[in-house]
Amino acid sequence: MSEVQLETKLIHGSTNEDVEQKTGAINVPIYLSSTFHQEKFDQFGPFDYSRSGNPTRQVLEETIADLEGGVRGLAFASGMAAISSAFMLLSAGDHVLIGRDVYGGTYRFVTEVLKKFKIDHTFVNMTDLDETAQAVQPNTKVVYIETPSNPCLNITDISGVVKIAKDNNCLTFLDNTFMTPLYQKPLELGVDVVLHSATKFLSGHSDIVAGLAVAGNEGLGEKLAFIQNSFGSILGVQDSYQLIQGIKTLGARLKQSSESAEKIALYLDGHPLIERVFYPGLPKHEGHSIHASQAKGSGALLSFRLANKEAAKAFVEQTKLPVFAVSLGGVESILSYPAAMSHAAMPKVEREKRGITDGLLRLSVGLEHVDDLIADLDQALQVANEQIENLVIT
Ligand SMILES: *Cc1c(COP(=O)(O)O)cnc(C)c1O
Repeated sequence: MSEVQLETKLIHGSTNEDVEQKTGAINVPIYLSSTFHQEKFDQFGPFDYSRSGNPTRQVLEETIADLEGGVRGLAFASGMAAISSAFMLLSAGDHVLIGRDVYGGTYRFVTEVLKKFKIDHTFVNMTDLDETAQAVQPNTKVVYIETPSNPCLNITDISGVVKIAKDNNCLTFLDNTFMTPLYQKPLELGVDVVLHSATKFLSGHSDIVAGLAVAGNEGLGEKLAFIQNSFGSILGVQDSYQLIQGIKTLGARLKQSSESAEKIALYLDGHPLIERVFYPGLPKHEGHSIHASQAKGSGALLSFRLANKEAAKAFVEQTKLPVFAVSLGGVESILSYPAAMSHAAMPKVEREKRGITDGLLRLSVGLEHVDDLIADLDQALQVANEQIENLVIT
């Protein structure tokens, strides 16, 4: 389906006539079958064993490939399983060039696991194209991008990095978790493999853990499918169904949450207790114009900085609506404290270099009424302010 808008594809993309002709059921059946009977002795059907392929999972995989404009989609047991499997395209002796502020789990996989297999890496500030180009080594095989990045929403110029990669015969991988294909289509900008933690916005209800990969060409698609089947960290059938259902409402959810996020960013930006707001939709954000040139929306995530840990603690303890948790992309707003949550594994000096100070909080804006969210943040800031003033006085 290519002639309709993405919002329409989200709803109808997974209605695969091949799967459900018998009853006309509008939802994809959950094919709970590990194996498949073969009618003929010497000619096998399209499915033989569910690690290699399952009809429910296949509908999900075709849906994400279609949404990203790629040729092959693959569903994995988690975002990290998708990311790690993509890195298995590499061999010992290869080198990875990777953005400095990627997701903590990606940082851990590259530094602790790939290293054991003799695959080397260099972290660079990918907002700087010169620094990125200079860090390419003769054995660099993959340039790994995450934009906007976590948690400070730094923006990488996708086309700029793709050009550097192509000039050096490297592949590019891009973690598109924060934007989803609704707002950012990396394959159209020349990226080779798009990766997702579908745990987040794609599923949208904080109920499953899932990952997706989409290859931009047949050759890479074949290789990734081979790794998926060999390594075997596939997404289960019931979770595949749940993710298909979640994707259908992505359009309405992300639009609403992004509108609210923008209002909240503006509110926080004008508040005297907030030192800094990180949101690519704010014109003063460093990457604002690059982001606007490569994405259709600013997304539902923002971070903001209070003076210190005490202020952050007092604020979090006073908020009533957002859940205080790791993760993002759910229908409920999620407030998290990167220094002790997503980036706890990082030494303090490394964290602070990346702007992850002890006063930094990240907010994933959900579907509550934005006025209620702002009122809640406002009362929490006020109470936190009073508490901190009392601390200073006593
Ligand atoms: C959560 C997340 C991941 C990891 O995904 P899991 O589903 O938790 O394994 C990777 N990248 C980003 C940007 C994330 O937010």
